[in-house]
Amino acid sequence: MGALAAVSPTTMMTTVGAGKQLAAGKRIGNALGEVSLRQQTSPWMSGLFFLGCTGFAYCFAEVLHELGHMLAVWIQGGTALRFYFHPVFPGYNVSSYVPDWQFLYLAGGWIGAPLGLLLALGLLKKPTAWRLPLYLTAAVGLLVTGMHQLSDPLRKVDSDWTFAIKYGFPPWIILVAGVLFVLAGALLRTYLLPLVGVGPKDGVKRRILVYLIGLLPWQVMVVTVLAATGRGPLIGFLAGLIPGLVWLVLEASLSRMLAVRGWGSRVPLIRISGGHLAWAWGLTATIVVLQLAFFW
Ligand SMILES: [Zn+2]
Repeated sequence: MGALAAVSPTTMMTTVGAGKQLAAGKRIGNALGEVSLRQQTSPWMSGLFFLGCTGFAYCFAEVLHELGHMLAVWIQGGTALRFYFHPVFPGYNVSSYVPDWQFLYLAGGWIGAPLGLLLALGLLKKPTAWRLPLYLTAAVGLLVTGMHQLSDPLRKVDSDWTFAIKYGFPPWIILVAGVLFVLAGALLRTYLLPLVGVGPKDGVKRRILVYLIGLLPWQVMVVTVLAATGRGPLIGFLAGLIPGLVWLVLEASLSRMLAVRGWGSRVPLIRISGGHLAWAWGLTATIVVLQLAFFW
């Protein structure tokens, strides 16, 4: 490493001296540009922007999920009477007439999450950091839906998926869909990382740090609120965080392997500013307040 550092400037000077100023200058300019860009977005700025966008994404993905259920009611000629949203508790809706319960339960995840994906794909042509809350809504919707499809039937908890199975839907299709949803969500989220200031040259350690700052606090907040409102023991919820933590480390490491192979290279590497943070956190605060207003 030391030898390489000593040799490089000499090589560069020789090139310039040989009359290839333009080529050498270009190379130096690019190198300096990348270095300064990387120095300007600290893992904390990246992580806090990621966290602001993720908070919004969890809340808005829930809205789309409920909209999926609603569409199932409307398609069948029923009337949706009321939505209930909450940033932490599960949302639900009340509807007047539901001939096909199996379809109603499946529609939350299978219509709602793809709605988010359609929205994101429509906006992905010219990706900007300002749209990241919407893009992440798609990624989080797919990931959360997938994780529930994989874990709810095994844990035998009451959920859309276990109810759909109870109404006769084949469990193996839900498990296969779960794998596909999780893969699609992880691929989309890792593709978007340059929008939080994580570039292809950033190593695994920095990625894990950004993931922990950007994703863990929301999860911890959710389990703390659930425990504080008597929905179960905190220790049980905290134990439930362990698989989530393992997943974060896995996905952050996977993102590095993918980035090296060019995944996300068409997404511009953004220098995150205070304005980005204000935008993301402002959106999250707004949707949290709106959801609480709907819930009560
Ligand atoms: Zn649902």
